[in-house]
Amino acid sequence: MSMNYEELRSLCLHCQKCKLAETRTNVVFGVGDPNAKVMFIGEGPGENEDLQGEPFVGRGGQLLDKFLAAVDLDRKKNIYIGNMVKCRPPKNRDPEPGEVAECIGYLNKQIELIQPKIIVCLGRIASCYMINPTFKVTKEHGQWTQKNGIWMMGTFHPAALLRNPNNKPLCFEDMLSLRDKIMEVCPETYAGIELLGLPQMP
Ligand code: SF4
Repeated sequence: MSMNYEELRSLCLHCQKCKLAETRTNVVFGVGDPNAKVMFIGEGPGENEDLQGEPFVGRGGQLLDKFLAAVDLDRKKNIYIGNMVKCRPPKNRDPEPGEVAECIGYLNKQIELIQPKIIVCLGRIASCYMINPTFKVTKEHGQWTQKNGIWMMGTFHPAALLRNPNNKPLCFEDMLSLRDKIMEVCPETYAGIELLGLPQMP
């Protein structure tokens, strides 16, 4: 059955397919422009995300927003952010394989509908799923690969940057590389946006 973005969102917001439905406060479907050409993907919601129903809020999300702003990206304007799993696992445990298997269809459908030209994976789990099952963030962050016609790159998860700020310059380099890739494959991302001059690291 073909489905549009709003129909998919509505289906997901009422989903009871796995036991995470019993403990969640909100389903965290995704945020941003469903017509964006640049998509960010993380693993799943934490406590703040569960409470607010939006991905990457809280301290990690604020840091992510600063990195985005440094390269003229804004979750409210020209990108889309989603997660592999839409409901928070209790006590921030990792999602179980069965929960990922039940939920991943929503992300796959989001990608199919949004049709991004670029996907940035935030952290190891999303990078392993999207790019390569053995992906190592510290070694392979910032490297571009093309899959199914979509340019993909993995970089540091913002929560990991809060734990280890020494990696912030590396993440900033990845964001500069992302900006170059956007200019190359989907410059319309920056249409109507007053570009910053020299980006500053947050
Ligand atoms: S985690 Fe995914 S599959 Fe499980 S209830 Fe939430 S939306 Fe449904």
